[in-house]
Formats: sequence, C-alpha cells, structure tokens
Amino acid sequence: MVLAELGSRLKKALSSVSDEVILDEKAIKSMINDISVGLMESDVNVMLVGKMKKNIESQIDINNLPKGINKRNHVKQIVFEELCKLVDPGVKPYQMQKRREPNVVMFVGLQGSGKTTTCTKYAMYYARKGWRVALVCADTFRAGAFDQLKQNATKANIPFYGSYTESDPVKLAREGVKQFTDERFEIIIVDTSGRHKQEENLFEEMEQVSKAVNPNDVVFVMDSSIGQAAQDQAAAFKSRVSVGSVIVTKLDGHAKGGGALSAVAATSSPITFIGTGEQFDEFEEFDARGFVGRLLG
Ligand code: GDP
Repeated sequence: MVLAELGSRLKKALSSVSDEVILDEKAIKSMINDISVGLMESDVNVMLVGKMKKNIESQIDINNLPKGINKRNHVKQIVFEELCKLVDPGVKPYQMQKRREPNVVMFVGLQGSGKTTTCTKYAMYYARKGWRVALVCADTFRAGAFDQLKQNATKANIPFYGSYTESDPVKLAREGVKQFTDERFEIIIVDTSGRHKQEENLFEEMEQVSKAVNPNDVVFVMDSSIGQAAQDQAAAFKSRVSVGSVIVTKLDGHAKGGGALSAVAATSSPITFIGTGEQFDEFEEFDARGFVGRLLG
C-alpha cells in the first residue's frame, strides 16, 4: 500500500468516527482497528502497530471524558499524536554550526540506496541557504562512483574532490576533507562506498573513514522500498558508526513508505529529509507533525 492509499485509509477511519451518531466504545474500537489494519498493510511493523493501538486505547476513556470536550476532536488529537510518535523518535539531529572549523558530514548506506544522489541534494539544500559546501568522493568500490559524483556536483555547481586512480578510500576522505578545510568550506560532505548488502568489509571501511575524518554527523541513507527490513538495516549501521540522522529516499515510488519511516524511527534515529524523486530538488525536510498532518488531510 503506497502512502497516498494509507492516507485515505486513515482519513476514512477517522471520518467513520465523525459519522457515527453516537460515539461509543464500539465505534472507537472499530476506528482503531481500521487504522491498525491500514498501517500494517503499509508495512508498518506489527509490534509497533500493537503498541500504538494500546497507547490509543489507554488514552480514550469515552465514558469519563472531561466535561465540555469535543469527543471527536479529542479522539483525532490522540490518534494524530500517536502517529507522530511512530515516525518521530524524539531525538534531535545534528545542527550545522557557523564556526571556524567545517561541519563534516559523512554519508553511509547500501549501494543503490540513493546515497550519491542524496549527497548532491543535501549539498544543494545547504548551498541554497548560503553555506559554502563541498563534496568528497571516498567511494572507491563502485566503478564510476567518482564520475557520477563529479557529474552531479558539476550540474549542481558544488566543488568536489576525488580521484580516478587512488584506491584507498581512507586516504581520499582525509585528503579531501583537509583540502576543503584549508579552503575554509563550512560544510564538507563525504560520500562513502556502499555494498549490495550489509557485510563486514563495508562496515570496516566505514569505521576507518569515520576515524580519519571524525565527522560531526553521520547520515544514513535508506531506500524506502525495503519496508520493514529498514529497522534491521538501520540498527546494523548504527551499531558500527554513530549514525546521527537518516534520509529516506524514493518516497515518490510505490514504496510502502510508512514501513520504512516508522522502522527507522524505532531505532531512535531522527529522519531529517526525504527523497521524492531523481531530480536534485526532489528533496524535502522531514517534519513528523507536518507529514502526519498531510497524511490525515
Ligand atoms: P548509491 O549507489 O546509493 O550512491 O545510489 P545512487 O545515488 O546512484 O542512486 C541509485 C538510483 O536511485 C539512481 O537511479 C537515482 O537516480 C535513484 N534515486 C535516488 N534517490 C531517489 C529518489 O528519492 N527517488 C527516486 N525515484 N529515485 C531516486
């Protein structure tokens, strides 16, 4: 079930409450059930849905509501807050600092997740806000990685660093960050290698690059189409490098986006941006309340 379908499903469940002549326990139960089924069909983890269901039920005591309260709005508000909690772990992500030293941000993720494209989107986002941003390609694993980053960076007008011949990602990362630090760039983004699956080589390389550049933030890029598997993947990356924020990509496709967003949030990783297309401006800040608000219409 894609996000738009989830949205209409949730809206329908909530409006079923509005349409009830008498708002009784039965009506509430059936609404919570509809919401739960919609979330599960959107690939949200069964346990997360179960927890949310319990939370909602425990907050609604239809027979003992404070006087003068609008029951329907009260129910809607509780559901809204619980849905927000599903996609927002309540952890603050790293904030860019205006200071003498640069903000070094390292990107990690599996191959094909959209990491290189997202590095450019992220660079452009900050460049447009007036920051001096540069990109370092430390992906020596995938043939053509540097060419791709170079093409993207050129198109986006972002200075870049990389090499066709150097095969040591740690050396490349260190040199690139040093060069741009000397040139007084404010944000230096380091794109690292991906692999097709979580494997030891990838994690070791990630750790070494991280040690070499000592990033202020590590951004984990994840393809939303993996649904529930997101939780395990995010946890695996987090266990090896200090992931500070997550960007979920390809939320424009037929992905069961709810699954990925809630699964990542369950690992206490704040989602900062979402990718909504292949173009560099198809990139949005992620705000849990705004997102749920739009979903509920
Ligand atoms: P990497 O291997 O992780 O560096 O992934 P790439 O940046 O090369 O992206 C893999 C593919 O996903 C490319 O075809 C990108 O254009 C595409 N892609 C990246 N982000 C998005 C997104 O948000 N939406 C869509 N539809 N495609 C994306």
